[in-house]
Amino acid sequence: MDEGLLTRIGTSLRSKRQAIQDWARNTEPEKVQDVLGPASLEALDRHLAVIDTALKEAEGNELGMCVVCHEPVESRLIQMDYTACVCIEHYSDEERRSLENELELAGAVQRSLLPQRPPEFPHLEIAAFSRPAQIVGGDYFDFFPFAGARQGIAISDVAGHGMSSSLIMASLQSMLRTLTQEYTSPSELIARINRLCIHNIQFTTFVTLFLGAFDPDTRQFTYVNAGHNPPLLLQSRAGTRGEVKWLSPTGAAVGLTEDFTYTDEAVPLTAGDVLLLYTDGVTESANSLGEFFGASRLASLVRDNAGLSAHDLVHAIRDGLDGFAEGATQADDVTIVVMRVVD
Ligand SMILES: [Zn+2]
Repeated sequence: MDEGLLTRIGTSLRSKRQAIQDWARNTEPEKVQDVLGPASLEALDRHLAVIDTALKEAEGNELGMCVVCHEPVESRLIQMDYTACVCIEHYSDEERRSLENELELAGAVQRSLLPQRPPEFPHLEIAAFSRPAQIVGGDYFDFFPFAGARQGIAISDVAGHGMSSSLIMASLQSMLRTLTQEYTSPSELIARINRLCIHNIQFTTFVTLFLGAFDPDTRQFTYVNAGHNPPLLLQSRAGTRGEVKWLSPTGAAVGLTEDFTYTDEAVPLTAGDVLLLYTDGVTESANSLGEFFGASRLASLVRDNAGLSAHDLVHAIRDGLDGFAEGATQADDVTIVVMRVVD
C-alpha cells in the first residue's frame, strides 16, 4: 500500500489511542460512563486492542491487504475503515451500493476534521485549542487563504451536537474552502453561504460564524460576525495599550434569518495585538457553584498574559478555565483560537 497513507494511518491511530487513554485517565468515572452509554469499559479496551493490531499491521506493511486476492484494498475504503480487508469488487451489487453510500458519508465526516496544525503566516502567530464536551462536538474553526493573499480565519458554533452537527460543520467547511478564493470581502462570502444554507433541507440548524481576513501588508483585519461570541482584541499601540475591544456581531447567525445584510468591519492591527476567538463553552464554563467564567474574567486573563506567545497564551487560558471549573463537568465544547500580531 501507498507508504504515505500507511504513515497517515499510523499517525492517526496513535493520536486516537493517546486521546482515548488521556480522556479515560483524566475524566471522572461517572462522566466516562456517561460518554460510554450502555457500553462497558471493556468495550473501550477492545477498541484500543483493534487500534493496536492495526498499528502493528501498518508497521509491518500488512495493513489493508485483501484476504481474497492479496492485492491492496482501495485506499478510500481504508481511509473510511482501517480494518477493511476485502476489496470493493468482491462484494455483491447491493453490498457495493451500501458501501458507496458509506464512503460518501465518510468523505463528509473526514472533511469536518479540524486543522491538524495552525498555518504559518507572515506577521501572525496562531495557536488553537478545541475540546469537545461530547465525542462529536459542535465547534468548528479553520484557516484558509482569502483572495488577495490574505489569511482567513473562521470560528463557528453549530447549534446542537452529535452526528448531524458534524455533517453541518463538514458542509460549512467545504463551502468555506471552496469559496474563499473567490472573495476578498468576508461579508460577501458569508452572505453567499447564508443564501446557500438558509433554505437547504440538509441544513437543519443554524450556525454562528465569525470570519476574518488579515492583510499582512497593511496589518488590517477585516471581519464579519454572524451571531458569534464577540472575539476579544487586546490592543497594544500607544494610547490604547491594554484596552480590550470586543468584535461584536454584525449580523445574524447563518441560516437563522431571511436577512442577508452583513457588513464588513475593519480594525488596524499592530505588533503585540492579541485577538482571541472562542466559543460560548469558554465564557459559559461553570464552576461547582454554577457560576459562569464570563467575559470579564476572560479579558483579565488575556490582559495578565498578554506578553506570552500565542501558543503559551492558549495554554494559560486553558489552565485558567480548568482552575476555575475545579473539575466541574462542562456542558459545552470549548474552543480557543489566539492570533498574535508580530513584527
Ligand atoms: Zn481483493
